[in-house]
Amino acid sequence: MFHADTIAAISTGMTSSGIGIVRISGPDAVEIADKIYDSRNGKKLADMPTHTIHYGYIRDGEEFLDEVLVMLMRGPRSFTSEDTVEINCHGGVYAMNRILELVTRKGARLAEPGEFTKRAFLNGRIDLSQAEAVIDVINAKNEYALKSSVSQLKGSVLKAVREIREKIIYHIAYIESALDDPEHISLDGYPEQLEEQTEQWIEKITSLIASAENGKRMKEGIRTVIVGKPNAGKSSLLNVLLGEERAIVTDIAGTTRDVLEEQMSLSGISLNIIDTAGIRETEDVVEKIGVKKAKTYAKDADLVIYVADSSTQLDENDEEIMELIRDRKAIVLLNKMDLDLVTTEEMIRERLDKPVIPISAKEEQGIDRLEQTIKDMFYDGNLSFNDQIYITNMRQKAALSEALESLKQVMTSIQNQMPEDFFSIDLMNAYEELGSITGESVGEDLVNEIFSKFCMGK
Ligand code: GDP
Repeated sequence: MFHADTIAAISTGMTSSGIGIVRISGPDAVEIADKIYDSRNGKKLADMPTHTIHYGYIRDGEEFLDEVLVMLMRGPRSFTSEDTVEINCHGGVYAMNRILELVTRKGARLAEPGEFTKRAFLNGRIDLSQAEAVIDVINAKNEYALKSSVSQLKGSVLKAVREIREKIIYHIAYIESALDDPEHISLDGYPEQLEEQTEQWIEKITSLIASAENGKRMKEGIRTVIVGKPNAGKSSLLNVLLGEERAIVTDIAGTTRDVLEEQMSLSGISLNIIDTAGIRETEDVVEKIGVKKAKTYAKDADLVIYVADSSTQLDENDEEIMELIRDRKAIVLLNKMDLDLVTTEEMIRERLDKPVIPISAKEEQGIDRLEQTIKDMFYDGNLSFNDQIYITNMRQKAALSEALESLKQVMTSIQNQMPEDFFSIDLMNAYEELGSITGESVGEDLVNEIFSKFCMGK
């Protein structure tokens, strides 16, 4: 157990609310609480069983500060694994601050940001990936972000990373032992075996890294840009998607001059939608800026929605847009299906290999198919958090990428028939990088592993 001083903080928001919580954690938490808490029945918290709630008052000398409920949770069965007291007071900013100030006067120190979670980690109750998930749960802004953070909090990343680490350490230990004791442990045929195994690790880590891309989108929203020639119906589509008349819709070509950005949630997936001016060559200065921006946005977007006008012929603007999105994740919406058909789905399919959905922005037809297609594109239609892990954290992604590089180096060394100690150096790098995700230490693990598996002293 990591021993420390006792810390305290207001754990609820710093605004006026029904209830506020002052949390105290550390070896003196109960003693400090008893100094300021008057129970109705005169009993001390120190004499109470753990995981109980008590009703009474917080008192500063003779002055009664608030009527409270006090939660008593003794370590290790608490968030931090330490003795913890949570004072549920009335959620006035002044009242909470008075209580916090009183608690610090009686011996607690003000907690640093994230310090309760840090203690949970240092005390071994959670690993680093879980600690980070706590922050992600708090920051989650949509259903998928929340689910993925909770899954990580429950240890999904820890488990995946740990499994690979255990196997890697086994191989490192094996190589080291064989090098130390070549008479008894043979490395004949071993490189092939390691090659096969390394390939599996590479595959697994690659898919974890790929999930980081999805994870990032879930947290921040899929950057979506709507393109199309003027008057195709981009603003109308945006209005339908947002459910209100936000963009100005007119029938003068080129009205949507600047770039509008809107955030919307589509079955739990966040989309950052950017509506741009129509893409076309123009002499109009104001419009030109819009067009240039449109092209830039289309380049950076995760998803391009191209609105084509089915009531007019495809022209050189359409051709230019189709070129622009040929290698992008894109969906074609063939708008104005309520009018006479001039451009058909087939005409677009002949030119572009993308999903084409007939819609009418005006009559709100085909929008559900658009939603379903977006979901399918990003989650293959059957996103499940039970069997899929999403890495949502960039630090973890960076560590995974480093580990991947090291494992690829192992493959190269095997293929170039390098000596075995080359393998273990890169395996060790991968092991350490993965360990930085979970926050596990390295040196001691390795030593223990070698002794426990191979009985070197024998
Ligand atoms: P933008 O320049 O691409 O943003 O196009 P707008 O959304 O401003 O639409 C241009 C014109 O087309 C407006 O008069 C809209 O009312 C009309 N419009 C948009 N979508 C449809 C549709 O599905 N059917 C019909 N009939 N008209 C539409």
